[in-house]
Amino acid sequence: MTEIIDGNAVADEIRAELSESIDALADADVTPGLATVLMSDDGASDTYVSMKQRACEEVGINGIHVEIEADAPAQELYDTIDELNDDPEVHGILVQMPVADHVDEREVINRIDPAKDVDGFHPENVGKLVAGYPRFKPCTPHGVQKLLESADVDPEGKDVVIVGRSNIVGKPLANLLIQKTDGGNATVTVCHSRTDDLAAKTREADIVVAACGVPELVDGEMLSEGTVVIDVGVNRVDADTEKGYELVGDVEFESAKGKASAITPVPGGVGPMTIAMLLYNTTKAAGLSEGVDVEL
Ligand code: NDP
Repeated sequence: MTEIIDGNAVADEIRAELSESIDALADADVTPGLATVLMSDDGASDTYVSMKQRACEEVGINGIHVEIEADAPAQELYDTIDELNDDPEVHGILVQMPVADHVDEREVINRIDPAKDVDGFHPENVGKLVAGYPRFKPCTPHGVQKLLESADVDPEGKDVVIVGRSNIVGKPLANLLIQKTDGGNATVTVCHSRTDDLAAKTREADIVVAACGVPELVDGEMLSEGTVVIDVGVNRVDADTEKGYELVGDVEFESAKGKASAITPVPGGVGPMTIAMLLYNTTKAAGLSEGVDVEL
């Protein structure tokens, strides 16, 4: 029997655990605050930001949302970040990516105060992660780690193949999984669009994480019996539905399920975890900046 790893249930557990930390902050008169900034016309980005704000509200994090016209000068976004950096009620800042084309994404990331960088993308935080003492683990990779833990899959000694080398998923996940800590100690291969014979790599893996943004790229033929499959992908593909599209992952679910010992669905797998870990990082940021031990 293949285990379907339920990201919604695991995310619920994490939110319940977080409420203790949020209570500890409340005892010290601190309400964690997360600012989300949207500068894009993209409907999916809008949806993601709304989901993040709603999740904040549900756990008692103060959500502040700033929307900037997609065609506004880049400086407007930079000034907004500066103001949020200086705002003592804001403990975490998330600029929803991708930003408008005329904005320098690297400048955006570098400008966020590293102590408020709850995405974990600032070079200072990337450095800490690589060196083995992370301040904030990037949300999606941390969520993947938690999902493996929930399914009793210890990466130690396992061969993990990650399909995708982006700065937000593939690279930080590889860095987390090779650390000499619980949830790490794996042997990791990071594949990308120039990888020769991807299927040969995935067939050798104990754990495959697909994060390439190519709908249903990884199928059952590319997996060995008993592989654990984590599907990070979220792709809108045209479909005869009310919205005119449906969401599919980077894994062809049915054929992969036939081979996997455990697999995450899309939706309902990694997605809810990304949001839960954002709440986690925001709570942690509030604790660190206010000097309250929140045990995260
Ligand atoms: P990017 O587009 O930034 O990176 C995609 C990576 O996949 C690149 O490294 C690329 O290689 C590689 N790739 C593309 N095509 C292939 C291929 N045919 N074979 C092997 N590798 C390939 O994507 P992201 O990392 O931002 O996102 C990946 C997926 O995860 C997307 O579907 C996205 O929507 C989803 N996502 C989901 C989240 C969630 O919360 N569930 C959060 C973040 C992302 P190269 O570097 O050579 O171009």
